[in-house]
Amino acid sequence: MKIKKDDRVKVISGKDKGKEGKVLKTFAKENRIIVEGINKIKRHQRATNNQRESGIIEKDAPISVNKVMLICPVCDKPTRIGHKRLENNEKVRMCKKCGEIIDKV
Ligand SMILES: [Zn+2]
Repeated sequence: MKIKKDDRVKVISGKDKGKEGKVLKTFAKENRIIVEGINKIKRHQRATNNQRESGIIEKDAPISVNKVMLICPVCDKPTRIGHKRLENNEKVRMCKKCGEIIDKV
């Protein structure tokens, strides 16, 4: 998966379009990610023995990785990610906008 934990991403479609956030978790198999503050869902919670108060809790729900773009840490713009192999055979992610290496894969 191209997006990794702790990446900064921008949402490009859906109800949170235009928002930015940090990737908290990735689910490679489902191609989904959880982004801080994005795709919040409200859950009603019932009071149980352990928990006295009922109410509404907000949770960040996973979104499709296709709905976000990585924000390049170098040029600070939403970008597509390319892959490149270095001379020492290390694979890195690079920014397709500025061409800078983002990090090691
Ligand atoms: Zn860049």
